[in-house]
Amino acid sequence: MEKGEIINRVYLILESGGNNCNIFAIEGKETVLVDCGIPEVYENLIKNMESFGLPFPSFILITHCHFDHALAGYLFEKNGSKIVAHEKTAEALEKEIYKIWPENVSAVKKTKVEIKFKEDKVIEIGGIKINLLHTPGHTAGSSSFLIEIEGKKCLFTGDLILEDGKIGWKGSIDFNIEELEKV
Ligand SMILES: [Zn+2]
Repeated sequence: MEKGEIINRVYLILESGGNNCNIFAIEGKETVLVDCGIPEVYENLIKNMESFGLPFPSFILITHCHFDHALAGYLFEKNGSKIVAHEKTAEALEKEIYKIWPENVSAVKKTKVEIKFKEDKVIEIGGIKINLLHTPGHTAGSSSFLIEIEGKKCLFTGDLILEDGKIGWKGSIDFNIEELEKV
């Protein structure tokens, strides 16, 4: 996948690589990021958003707690973004931080989650409806986010399913294949 606008108003802000997942931005009246990567790419993310004319994100949706998706959350939170995550992901981000990066716990900082959800629900941010879906398996709190923009549906799955349709990384502390197959 290449950096840029994938469908109207949905951007791939940073391609996966090194210690980072793909990071997407949704352009509404406010900017929403889906996942936020590691602190080392924070500046780059801001720069890339600016190059697409996107203001600093008001909200960050976190698909799951792994470092390559969530570690920079505290930086965004410090600078005014509100973090949205499933309550089990929130537990990892706020308390059980070893779940974020078991091999490198000393690099992990706590991130406060402003909006937590338990059941699937729809929220509206900046005029865009976002379906928050709990899709556990890859981790206990793994979530997917479904949006519809100008008649096109877009589903963000984190590491649940890879681009080739295969199941994502299975090494997580709380990976659960039975949960995943129910999704
Ligand atoms: Zn993961």
